[in-house]
Amino acid sequence: MSSGQLSYPERIDIRNCEKEPIHLIGKTQAHGVVLAVDPATFKITQASENTLKFFGISHKNILGDSLENLIGKSAFARITSAIDQKTGFKDEKLKVGHKDFIILPHFSEEHLILDFEDLGEVWEPMYFQQQLTNIINGLDADETVPDLCKTAAKLMKNTFGYDRVMVYRFDEEWNGEVVAEEKEEHLESWLGLHYPASDIPSQSRDLFLKHKVRIISDVNYEPVPISPELSPITNKALDLSKSTLRGVSPIHIEYLQNMEVGATLTAAIIVHGKLWGLIACHHYSAKFINYFQRETCKFLAQVFSNNIASIQTGIFNKKLNENSELRARILTDLKIENTLVDGLENAEIPFTSLIESGGGAVVFDDKIKLFGNTPTEAEVLDLSNFLAENEEVIFYTKNLKNSYPVAENYKKSASGILSFKLGRAKNNFIIWFRPEVAETVSWGGNPNKKVSYNEEKQRLSPRKSFKKWTEKLDGISNSWQDYEIETAKAFRENLNQFILKKQKEEIGRLNQNLQEANKDLELFSYGISHDLRSPLRGIKGYAQILKEDFGEELPAEASETIETILRSSGRMEGIIDDTLSFSKITGGKLQKKNFGTNKLLEELLLSFNIKANFPDFDIEIDENLPNTYADRRMIFQVWSNLIGNALKYTQPGAYPRIEIGSFSEENKNIFYIKDNGIGIAENQKDKVFKMFSRFAKKDFKGTGIGLAIVARILEKHNGKIWVESEPENGSTFFFHL
Ligand code: ADP
Repeated sequence: MSSGQLSYPERIDIRNCEKEPIHLIGKTQAHGVVLAVDPATFKITQASENTLKFFGISHKNILGDSLENLIGKSAFARITSAIDQKTGFKDEKLKVGHKDFIILPHFSEEHLILDFEDLGEVWEPMYFQQQLTNIINGLDADETVPDLCKTAAKLMKNTFGYDRVMVYRFDEEWNGEVVAEEKEEHLESWLGLHYPASDIPSQSRDLFLKHKVRIISDVNYEPVPISPELSPITNKALDLSKSTLRGVSPIHIEYLQNMEVGATLTAAIIVHGKLWGLIACHHYSAKFINYFQRETCKFLAQVFSNNIASIQTGIFNKKLNENSELRARILTDLKIENTLVDGLENAEIPFTSLIESGGGAVVFDDKIKLFGNTPTEAEVLDLSNFLAENEEVIFYTKNLKNSYPVAENYKKSASGILSFKLGRAKNNFIIWFRPEVAETVSWGGNPNKKVSYNEEKQRLSPRKSFKKWTEKLDGISNSWQDYEIETAKAFRENLNQFILKKQKEEIGRLNQNLQEANKDLELFSYGISHDLRSPLRGIKGYAQILKEDFGEELPAEASETIETILRSSGRMEGIIDDTLSFSKITGGKLQKKNFGTNKLLEELLLSFNIKANFPDFDIEIDENLPNTYADRRMIFQVWSNLIGNALKYTQPGAYPRIEIGSFSEENKNIFYIKDNGIGIAENQKDKVFKMFSRFAKKDFKGTGIGLAIVARILEKHNGKIWVESEPENGSTFFFHL
């Protein structure tokens, strides 16, 4: 590019054609006139240097003149009013000198640009109508994309009379393939030929996407310069991207000349907003089709595009449906097996048939199973390690060696892979393999015999293009289609459910084992505690006898020792009792019935002999406590433990008080027992319900089992217990069943 300014570079060749600023070409084609007008003054600021030929006025005489002078009052008024009212321009048919023109106005940066084209043959409305109907009827009859392409090519050929019409389809990398062709008989067929993406560089594709139809009326035309070269308004080259007369890139011209093409018409096929392909028409001499014919061509391309979109959507749904039936059959076979690998191996339909592929692999729990044409087991294992590092659940590529160079070694079987992760483990995969395309592509005849190639010029030609394209195919597989990726996703869901179900069954089995082991343990602890009782009674009894019969004769130290034995055995008795009742609870079955809570508490206080043992207590019990539906024996134990604790953990100095009541919340009867005892620290509130957790000072006797029993009983009744408390400020235990 020349210094600073954006203008057309001096030399463009195949190496920099991707960068070629084709919209700034500064030249026009020869079949019409381009004028640039300053919209502030409507004076002509630039003109293509062929006005003499078309208007009979030299471009030098036109520059600086007013547009109105050239096109007349009424056309001028329509153009200016379209600008004022922002209605968008209409095409204008009018005479300049003795010639009929069509004017196609548009804005480009700060210029109003007018393309003047030969009006040419104007179709009768009836004929026009007939053409459109033909197009719609013709294209609507087809049900497959190849058929549709054939019809489109035929319609184009019949309507516009080019020597060769091709439907050219892009792949995801913008390589192209001729998928349909209509031609004069004497011409060689190019059907099935492929072309590398560089043949139609990205900037041309962008222009096609925007402007849809483009003609080159004479490949051998003399490019017409625009004068002056730089715009007096912007001081830059004129942006001609929207001009139908925009000059053609010299590379493209040479490319066409190599093929001896004299004129072209190209229409964009746009599907779901993306350039799907082109309808490329070649003529072997100069050929101009006028604006109206081009509009018809645009219409044809539009109908064609819509039909492709609808067929593709249909295929997507149909394939997905077919696949879901296949999947269902695989899953039925899978269900009777124990493991995923066995299931997939023994299924009547191999999972590899779900998606077009050469082969597949299952990598699961360190086992590998290969199906069809695949790399070796060791290679698949390495590949799965590579895949495990990938974050994505579904991974697919048509060029594996690009992201994983080792795959070069087995590109024949696996240039492309589609894989997904299974379950939660990092290294479990289902993989489909696709072979290298060069192995599978069907050659449309011998490519070496297509169109002679100009060695001197070293330019691209169909033959050269095809060669270049096949060279590029190293390690590339066919692309993975949308519905195939969807199928993989759905299959992944299915397999994950299978794995989950198997895991659940396994967990269930383990749980059962655990429960049995637990039962054994309960029986064991029950047995042990039970058996310890009688020797303990012996120890306690004999110590008692020693104390009573010989107490006075024994030295003080010995009496002290006897006291310790008695105290310790008393404590041990407590632990044994609690352990026994805990194992009874965890093991025992609930025998639920309805009973009066007040009645139960009355009994309980009697058993505590409360009046005699705790004369200073103030115990207040709500007289109308709701009945309880539960295992009475167990609830007796709950209250017994809670009241026992409230009587035990009292505050020195404070007048002891206990309050028992209930309230209802969210349809539940919540019982509470409130004391004004020593309280419980915040961080101990949850811990007190754990086995053997004790927090009070040593002077309070206990085993740390009581509240664990309470919690366990409530848990068995699907209930809950919690405590609100503050150290030295009493505690309130709440529970519900
Ligand atoms: P134990 O009373 O035999 O120690 P528990 O399981 O009944 O065992 O109680 C566990 C611990 O919870 C007690 O050691 C004590 O620290 C605390 N605790 C229980 N009830 C109360 C209460 N009403 N007031 C204060 N602390 C209590």
